Amino acid sequence: MKKKQSRSLGSEIANDGEFLAGWLNSDDGWGYSSESQQHTKGLVLQLASLRDSAAKRMKLGDGEKDSINAALARYPWVLRLVKVSRTGVPVFMDWQAAPEEGQTWAAMVINLARAGHLDRLRRCVNCRAWLFAKRNTRAVYCSTPCRQKIWRANPENKEKNREYQRDHYERLKQRLERLKEKRNAKKRRTA
Ligand SMILES: [Zn+2]
Repeated sequence: MKKKQSRSLGSEIANDGEFLAGWLNSDDGWGYSSESQQHTKGLVLQLASLRDSAAKRMKLGDGEKDSINAALARYPWVLRLVKVSRTGVPVFMDWQAAPEEGQTWAAMVINLARAGHLDRLRRCVNCRAWLFAKRNTRAVYCSTPCRQKIWRANPENKEKNREYQRDHYERLKQRLERLKEKRNAKKRRTA
């Protein structure tokens, strides 16, 4: 039986994803213009919507296709000769990012989309920062503080947290008591 193709994550894709999320979150665009940052964000959202539409069994509309192609037309993708076979058959790289302003980032977005992992690049439900869900595909928080913030905001969890803190304090108190007793016992022995 053929093994089902899983959407496993290659390390190159994972690195690209994390790098992209970092760049999209950067205030200064790491030397790239904020305009190219905005454009890349737009491309991410446009390509991500394809997946949402597919999930709803919606066909790709002409308008949607035109608008994505218009976004891509900004970049001059170039065909490159990579090597040649022993019989003289040329091998081309099907496309490559020209060193145009911000195009490297767009190329990463497209690589992610082609690999079927663009949905892992998403925004934190608490602070709206971009994140790349590397290990946990369902991750929706960019960080532990954001996860805790949302968790604590839930009234049910608020009560749970209060109980936990109370128990924690109780345990700490008991531990301190035991330590004190031990120390006193030692003092008595050495006295
Ligand atoms: Zn966050």
